Amino acid sequence: MAEKIDSLQEKLRALEIIFLQKLPAKIDEITGALQQLQADPSDREALLALHRHLHTMAGSAGTFGFFDLGAQARVFENQLQTLLNGEHWSQARLQQYADDMRLYFSTALSHAADKPASEFSDLNSDKAEDQSESRLIYLVDEDDEQNHAITAQLEHFGYEVVRIQQLKAMAVAIATRRPDVIVIELSFPEGRIAGAEEITRLKQFERFRIPTVFVSRSSSFESRLLAVRAGGKGYFTKPVDVVALTERIDALLQQDESKAYRILIMDDDAVTSEYYAAILRDAGMAVRLLSEPSQILSVMTDFRPELLLLDVYMPMCSGVELSMVIRQDNSYVDVPIVFLSSEADLGKQLEAVRAGGDDFITKPIAPEYLVSSLSTRAERYRLLRALIMRDGLTGLYNHTAIKEQLASEISQAGRNGSPLALAMIDLDYFKNVNDSYGHPAGDQVLRTLARLLRQRLRRSDIVGRYGGEEFAVIFPGTSATTARKVLDQVRLAFYKIQQHAEQGEFAVSFSAGVADLELTTDVDELFDVADAAMYLSKQNGRNRITLA
Ligand code: GH3
Ligand code: MG
Ligand code: MG
Repeated sequence: MAEKIDSLQEKLRALEIIFLQKLPAKIDEITGALQQLQADPSDREALLALHRHLHTMAGSAGTFGFFDLGAQARVFENQLQTLLNGEHWSQARLQQYADDMRLYFSTALSHAADKPASEFSDLNSDKAEDQSESRLIYLVDEDDEQNHAITAQLEHFGYEVVRIQQLKAMAVAIATRRPDVIVIELSFPEGRIAGAEEITRLKQFERFRIPTVFVSRSSSFESRLLAVRAGGKGYFTKPVDVVALTERIDALLQQDESKAYRILIMDDDAVTSEYYAAILRDAGMAVRLLSEPSQILSVMTDFRPELLLLDVYMPMCSGVELSMVIRQDNSYVDVPIVFLSSEADLGKQLEAVRAGGDDFITKPIAPEYLVSSLSTRAERYRLLRALIMRDGLTGLYNHTAIKEQLASEISQAGRNGSPLALAMIDLDYFKNVNDSYGHPAGDQVLRTLARLLRQRLRRSDIVGRYGGEEFAVIFPGTSATTARKVLDQVRLAFYKIQQHAEQGEFAVSFSAGVADLELTTDVDELFDVADAAMYLSKQNGRNRITLA
């Protein structure tokens, strides 16, 4: 079975490579036609050739997995269509169009070559998850002093920050490496609102549609309105409250992620599942493929799907049986299960639904219908889970949920014979924070630590709010020694974060204790030993981590 997937991946990779090899020639054709058109804007033949080349590129790039390239070629094609339709373009407009296209394609080449075939290598999905965690921010501002301060703070939160001082360097930088968020000053030497103008100009390109936050010395309504009109998703006056800025950036990135429902597709026919996977990925979902039924439980824990799409007929066991195996586990009684089959027999469908399936989709299915019906179910599931499992203030797992998670992770670790560590964290002198700066400032500190933990730790690490100012972190596959090292980085970063309050700025530290399965495999005992180690940290002066 694994061989089958491998060979499919190889084929897809081979197609990608062929496309890549031809890409320079195709781009040459485009730029050649472009040059001809620029030399003589009335050259109808050059215009048609350019349009044709762009059209081909738009179609083929997407097919081979280069969605961005395809989408951008489509944008250029559509713009050119207006010229074809007889609209008049000024010399300057044509020049700008040509410049943008050259810039895009020249950098697209190096990008395309970098693109890993990872979209198909589900076996190695940890890498992909890690990648999504290193978040890149472009900070575009001439004011170097402010930039230093903002950069330092954002870096504590685990963001990678690249400073760009000149407005005109931004477009090239974006084309070279696409950031997740842009933080940009509204005004530049080029003009009082040049920052907003440049963002507006770039936003016409698919590739450059990046969430943008404006910073400015001006707090006027006019400036804010301009920022909104440039598509700004946030507006901060200087000096910037970096914690608030980070909160906004997080929210933007979460929105970005929000459609990335985790869908597990289980089908013994790898070609079919690849087809459905491609449709769902195109709609922004995270898809894992599985062809081996016996691996289902470990994939459920590792990937934590928000919806399962199961084939009914498989050689080893049927989809219906598989759904019953999944439903046997209490943690999965409510995860949506949708059956996918060419089965038209109503009796079989009823049987599937009775066994705990939520829906039955008959192949073949229109892609839009597949996407909308799955995302509706996954969305509702996520919402319900959030209500039941999450703490309202921090968005972390609540007390009950983190205990449940620990139980399931311990049993998983037992099955695999892998290590697992648990950390208990308690804020130092937190009562003083509330007393000196007010309860809302205290809440802000709790949210800051929650965010930092989520960002600095691996996606597979599980973070919960255990009590008022106590947090718990589960580190699957990790020994206490390693977990302590990792958490120590968070401790140092947290203490460096400047917390803002009306009364002034301050820093908060935490104490922690770490234990692992070497000591006990009992859920409650593990909490107890980690907690005891945390109290040792308090006794020994706080702002430290102790091994149990
Ligand atoms: P220590 O270093 O020994 O842990 O001292 P501490 O002051 O942090 O510990 P203590 O247990 O005396 O006080 C905990 C404080 O945490 C008291 C409580 O008001 C505050 N707290 C608990 N939950 C919340 C919350 O949700 N928001 C805010 N702002 N404060 C909270
Ligand atoms: Mg406490
Ligand atoms: Mg405390």
